[in-house]
Formats: sequence, C-alpha cells, structure tokens
Amino acid sequence: MNNRRNLCPLQSEEHAALLLDYCARRLDAGRGAALEAHMEQCPACREMRDAQRLVWDSLDAWDAGHTGWEFNQRLQERLRHECRPAWIDTVASWKEGISWKPAVPLAAALALWLIVFPPNGANAPQPQSAQQTEQIEKVLEDVEMLQQIPLSPR
Ligand SMILES: [Zn+2]
Repeated sequence: MNNRRNLCPLQSEEHAALLLDYCARRLDAGRGAALEAHMEQCPACREMRDAQRLVWDSLDAWDAGHTGWEFNQRLQERLRHECRPAWIDTVASWKEGISWKPAVPLAAALALWLIVFPPNGANAPQPQSAQQTEQIEKVLEDVEMLQQIPLSPR
C-alpha cells in the first residue's frame, strides 16, 4: 500500500508532469500503460486525469471552432472582395475630392471630448469648474462655426 502511494504521480512534481503528458497524449505506450494501471487504483490520479481531459477536450473544441472562425473570415473577405459595395467607391472618390476642412470639425470634436473626458484622472466624476464649462462652450461654438463652412468637394 505504502509502495503504491509512493508511486503516485501526484506525489511529486516530476511525476505530475508525467500525468500531464499522458493527458496531452505525449506519453509513450509503455509509460502510458503503467500510468493507466496506477490510475485504476488511485482516485486522486483519476480525478486529475478527468480534469485534464476536460481541459484538452475544451481546447480541441476551441481549435475546431477557431478553424471555423478563420474559415468564416476568409469567406467574408472573399465576399467583400467579390461583392464590393458601391458605397466604397463613392467614399473613395469623395475622399480624393475634399480638402482638409472636414478634418477640422473632427479635431474640434476630439478636443471637446478630451476636455470632457481628460485621459488622466477621469475615473472619478469631478465637478466641472466654470472655466471648463466655458471651454466646452467655446469648442461647441467652434464646431458649429466650422460646420457652417460650405464644403465643396469638386
Ligand atoms: Zn495516483
């Protein structure tokens, strides 16, 4: 009894690795058979094996799912390439025609966003100071003003 207990792979790190190898199907037939014989008699190792099998089965399932996902991606890419929506060409030609102007309201909006949600210390809501409110109002005015600029792409 004592002897079998000493042989339990779970009793030493090295042997636990053996058990993990077995579950990963990396163990040669001889050692695998010896381990199986031990597991017949050792509930602790059976439990470990079952838990590991669950992990490996999950990984297998994930692998299959991953392949499926990749296939989906490729299919989608192909569809996108072959059934290129008309709006992509429209946007492309529109982008060629315009100047830097549309970028300005965007930059102003970004500035506003940075004022309202500063990157540092924005985690806790802080009472807005009158100065901040003023700044926001000014940026809003700028955005409005910039939106009045007629954009003539051609
Ligand atoms: Zn054992």
